[in-house]
Amino acid sequence: MKPRNRLRIAMQKSGRLTEPALDLLARCGLTFRQSRDKLFCFGEGEPVDLLLVRDDDIPGLIAQGVCDLGIVGRNVLSEFRLTGGREAEPLAELRPLGFGRCRLSIAVPQELDYREPRQLHGRRIATSYPGLLGEWLRAQGVDAGVVTLAGSVEIAPKLGTADAICDLVQSGGTLVANQLREADVLLHSEAVLAGPLALPADERGDLLELLLKRLDGVIQVRE
Ligand code: ATP
Ligand code: ZN
Repeated sequence: MKPRNRLRIAMQKSGRLTEPALDLLARCGLTFRQSRDKLFCFGEGEPVDLLLVRDDDIPGLIAQGVCDLGIVGRNVLSEFRLTGGREAEPLAELRPLGFGRCRLSIAVPQELDYREPRQLHGRRIATSYPGLLGEWLRAQGVDAGVVTLAGSVEIAPKLGTADAICDLVQSGGTLVANQLREADVLLHSEAVLAGPLALPADERGDLLELLLKRLDGVIQVRE
């Protein structure tokens, strides 16, 4: 790949991580001029640019070398590492960023008296995270059916397409609204800085080091 002298960060275009990510980058001293189509933000001070995309596309963009770094939920990054094939191997979680906290959890109908994972044996579990759920089920020695859905996972038990779900939980309000309750936690998640295992050999390596140093300062001040 040809050497590049600007660092490119992928982040969520519009969603829960957008505002806190922009805020964090601003506190790292990075300012941007937004392009007209709002997909690309040109870095004004430092040579660091942004690409605004769907969060699900972020790990793939880094793996393909389109972007150098990404700000994405650990849930999305971990799922990609499990299901992204060989492409996913060189991806690392460089820093936890302290916002976008949530849990990837098993939730069951409120009337089910859940005590242990074994009770899920032979049941169908709906999720958008088949990689993480499959890994957890194997670790627990539970043989359950995984029903992969792109969205609206929480209504699957009501529709009869699954007996339980594995989904992101923050306050638990969505679960209660669907007569479900959190039964087990698979993963504690927050936004992370995702990037390559090894620093790029060109100027981007120095820029990444500078960014990490500033991030560490900002995160320490906040904690
Ligand atoms: P996109 O259009 O980018 O695909 P999305 O609907 O997948 O958006 P959001 O709902 O904005 O994404 O969530 C982005 C991230 O925020 C999640 O991947 C997760 O890491 C984090 N998050 C924190 N709390 C929650 C929650 N209660 N539900 C879903 N995601 C949450
Ligand atoms: Zn998404």
